[in-house]
This record gives sequence, structure tokens and C-alpha cells, in this order.
Amino acid sequence: MITLENVGLRYGNGPEILRDLSFQIPPRSFQFLTGPSGAGKTTLMRLLSLSLTPSRGFMSLFGSDVSTLAHKDIPAMRRRIGVVFQDFRLLDHLSTYDNVALPLRIQGRDPASYRNDVGELLKWVGLADRKHAFPPVLSGGEKQRVAIARALITQPDVLLADEPTGNVDPPMAQRLLRLFLELNRLGTSVIIATHDINLMDQIDARRLILFDGHLETSP
Ligand code: ADP
Ligand code: ADP
Repeated sequence: MITLENVGLRYGNGPEILRDLSFQIPPRSFQFLTGPSGAGKTTLMRLLSLSLTPSRGFMSLFGSDVSTLAHKDIPAMRRRIGVVFQDFRLLDHLSTYDNVALPLRIQGRDPASYRNDVGELLKWVGLADRKHAFPPVLSGGEKQRVAIARALITQPDVLLADEPTGNVDPPMAQRLLRLFLELNRLGTSVIIATHDINLMDQIDARRLILFDGHLETSP
């Protein structure tokens, strides 16, 4: 579903931040992306979500070579990849409901056509009673779940989450892990960038380990 072959990435004329990355993300798979701070995890997430394109090497998404993607095809491709940013990036002046509905609103969909979907998704992440609340009054765990719901409202094939348990207490981290596992069971590929050893040790998932821009895969 996602394939990288000898991919390198540099910012501008700087050094290569990612070097010789070769791996695949199969459909319906679950993996952790880990490694020390500065190793390139966020950069790799940006690459996988098409905010950056490889400086060299080959990368394909859903069967298309990203180097030959036409500009007009990029938004549709991006909708197949849900992203949960480390800093959430919620809009403070929009309610929980409207934050989650935003990607569909941007697509120009009729609000009546997705009202139930947004309601169901908010129930699924446990925020049905927070749908009228605005981000500034939400807890870290609630914001994280709004961000997850917004990433999922377009029913992406892949979910990327950057340090989703970084700002929550251990019980909430457990709850989030269960959500990600359930999502994966329903058919979505999940990639979680994390430093959280406790989280990774709980399940037997593949680990993509970045060291200084290089990848090691285990087990
Ligand atoms: P991680 O998420 O593993 O901490 P990052 O991908 O954030 O790693 O950073 C990897 C390296 O890329 C770091 O040396 C960082 O300084 C550099 N870097 C990140 N973003 C940029 C950018 N926009 N421009 C130049 N260098 C960057
Ligand atoms: P309910 O728990 O009220 O039955 P649903 O799960 O059916 O909610 O989700 C749809 C609900 O979302 C409707 O009650 C509708 O009034 C509400 N709704 C629609 N638009 C918005 C909005 N912009 N902000 C908050 N709630 C909205």
C-alpha cells in the first residue's frame, strides 16, 4: 500500500535527514515508528502524508508513484491518509463537532449527509457529550481524541499518529491504544510514532526504528 525504496530526504540544501529508507506498509497492518529524538520520525511522517516528497529514491502510495502525481490528484490521495499531529492542530474557535466535520466541510459535502457519521465517530472515541465544547476547555486526552476523530472522518486507509500518548496519563494511553487496535481490526493501517516503551511492549506489532535517518526493522 505504501512502498519506499532507497528514499532519501533533505530539507532544502541541507544534509540528508532520511537516508536509504526501504520498507513497505501493508494494508491492514499495525506498526510503531520509534527512535531517538531528532532521528527523523516526524520527517518520515510528513513524507508518508505527502507534506514532503522524497529528494531521491522511489515512493509509491496506493499504487501511484508519488514523483509523477499530478497536483490535482494530491488532495484525493491525502484524504486516504489520516494524520494526527503531535500538537493536535485543532481550531479553537470551532466546536468539537465542527473540528471533526471540517475535512468534510472543506470537501463541500452537504452537512446533513455527514451529521450521523460525525455523531457516531464522536461516540466511538467517547466524546458524544463534548460535541459542543471548544478545544480550549478540553483536556489533553479529549483533544487527542478530537484530533483522532478528525483524522478518521474521511475514512482513510492509513492513520498516522505522532506521539499520541505524549500528553496523556497512563489510563488514557491505554484507552487510545485500544482505539487504535480496534481501528486496525476494522481494516485501517495504523502507524504510531512513539517513544513510549510501555505502549510498544503491550502488543506484538512491527517496530520501525530510526537511528540518525536510517531504518532498522524488528522483529
Ligand atoms: P524526530 O521526530 O525523530 O525527533 P525530526 O524529523 O523532527 O526527528 O527531525 C530530524 C532532523 O531533521 C533534525 O535534525 C531536525 O533538526 C531536522 N529538521 C526537522 N524539520 C526541519 C526543517 N523544516 N528544516 C530543516 N531541518 C529540519
Ligand atoms: P445526538 O446524541 O444528539 O442524537 P447524534 O449522534 O445523532 O447526536 O449526532 C448528530 C447531532 O449533531 C444532532 O443532534 C445535531 O443536532 C448535532 N449537530 C449538528 N450540527 C452540529 C454542530 N455544528 N455542532 C454541534 N452539534 C451539531
